[in-house]
Amino acid sequence: MEILGKSLIGFHDSRSTTGPFSAWNPASGEKIDATFYSASHEDVEGAAKAASDAFSSYARLAGRERASFLNRIAARLESMVDLLVARAHAETALPEPRLKSETARTCSQLRLFASVIEEGSWVSARIDHGDSERKPLPKPDIRSMLHPLGPVVVFGASNFPLAFSVAGGDTASALAAGNPVIVKAHPAHPGTSELVGRAIRECVREEGLAEGVFGLLFDSGNEVGAKLVQHPLVKAVGFTGSIKAGRALMDLAVSRPEPIPFYGEMGSTNPVFILPGAMALRGKEIASQLHASFTLGGGQFCTKPGLVFLPPQHSSADFLPEFQAKVARSPKFTLLTSGIRDSYQREIQSRKGRSDLALVAEGEQPASGNAFLAGVAAFQTDVPGLLRSPDLSSEVFGPSSVLVHFSNKRELLDAARSLSGHLTATIHGTEEDLREFSDLVYLLQNKVGRIVFNGYPTGVEVSHAMIHGGPYPASTDSRTTSVGSQAIFRFARPVCYQDFPDSALPAELKDANPLGIWRMVDGKFAR
Ligand code: NAP
Repeated sequence: MEILGKSLIGFHDSRSTTGPFSAWNPASGEKIDATFYSASHEDVEGAAKAASDAFSSYARLAGRERASFLNRIAARLESMVDLLVARAHAETALPEPRLKSETARTCSQLRLFASVIEEGSWVSARIDHGDSERKPLPKPDIRSMLHPLGPVVVFGASNFPLAFSVAGGDTASALAAGNPVIVKAHPAHPGTSELVGRAIRECVREEGLAEGVFGLLFDSGNEVGAKLVQHPLVKAVGFTGSIKAGRALMDLAVSRPEPIPFYGEMGSTNPVFILPGAMALRGKEIASQLHASFTLGGGQFCTKPGLVFLPPQHSSADFLPEFQAKVARSPKFTLLTSGIRDSYQREIQSRKGRSDLALVAEGEQPASGNAFLAGVAAFQTDVPGLLRSPDLSSEVFGPSSVLVHFSNKRELLDAARSLSGHLTATIHGTEEDLREFSDLVYLLQNKVGRIVFNGYPTGVEVSHAMIHGGPYPASTDSRTTSVGSQAIFRFARPVCYQDFPDSALPAELKDANPLGIWRMVDGKFAR
């Protein structure tokens, strides 16, 4: 499959020759072959119109028909895994085994949603039978279920060129729910985006679907993304990326004449709380595993543990030397983009100059050169220091973390109380620690989407119960998740039918339950 650098508007390629840009190889710092062209104003209009036109037929397909489409995309991506991995490796410098498993994850996400819509109960059908004899007034027959929203715009992130990109979780969940999707391609992996986009487009054609079910737009800047979010035919947005960009786009989405739902999954510092019992028992082991977690993928994970609370020194005697040794022996990492490298270097230099932080240790630092390299750096402070400088709990995207010493339980709880929203929090503790610090679990429950016990937050299982989200600024809507099958609920809304004849109801709400789905009938779940 050839990379042409063109946006995909339904079954057509864009003719735009403006706003040219290239992919960069982070390992060499050099441009990679193909030129990509930014989508024109006409392309944005064309993609939005095609998606809107496709909505009525796509939304009305049976779950098994949409499932067939998603399964076809998964099979197509699997059949081109070597091509995808090679291109994504060139554009991101992420290791090939990681990209292979990310491709597998992308396909299993598509298949998970396919299985959910094939089974069908996700529509949350409810039936309250009417009662014409009820006094003083007859009771109407009320039935409700979820329906798709309309065209959804998806923004992927640089650090997951497959699983949070063109065919990633947002696209899979939006398509599964019955919405056409327009992806704004991430400029850090445009070739990978185009390969995946063309594969999806082939599947649209082979399934006999309307061409506007899928579109892919390139841009060298932010204009196309902003136009899409503001386009009157667009009905929702799924975004993965930084807080800065997520916030800017959310503000656009809600200040439209017709505000639309904006689901932004953003950065996070993922606090880790090491309680005294666990520290005494496993301090050295935790230090080593924590180091592996915060440097995984060069620290470029939204779930990177960037803030680690440590109990008083006497119980952490084994932790610090091991942690320092691991950091000091860390190699350099290649970061995804020159922008991420520059802001990481800027933030590390600024942290080195602060009086409220001390450098714990740093790894091998890069000499100047073209490659997007960065060295590991870990800092420490104490709870009063953190409370005075809450910005220390902001995300630094890259291989860095901050240790925060607490001197007693009250201090730890004060620190937890001061935190804003995060994707995850982690507790390392014994049963006794949990009893002693029971308030901590309650506090964290109100701060994050996922609480990990005696583990590490990097690595997000794709499953039915997973929650990957959290209170702002971890996400823009803490009631949802962007990973796992519950993500489908973001792109659907409930519609209620009152006193409809059975013949005119959707299959999901007919008396005979022809799809055999789980429904709530007169207050009881039944199949
Ligand atoms: P990013 O810079 O925010 O970019 C994300 C997308 O938004 C890109 O397509 C980008 O295009 C676009 N964009 C950026 N600023 C914009 C603006 N002002 N207006 C319109 N569009 C804009 O993020 P990234 O570097 O790709 O990813 C790293 C971040 O993503 C980290 O903070 C990480 O924690 C987060 N992340 C979160 C999750 C999660 O699930 N919560 C998962 C992965 C990553 P341009 O580059 O062309 O501007």
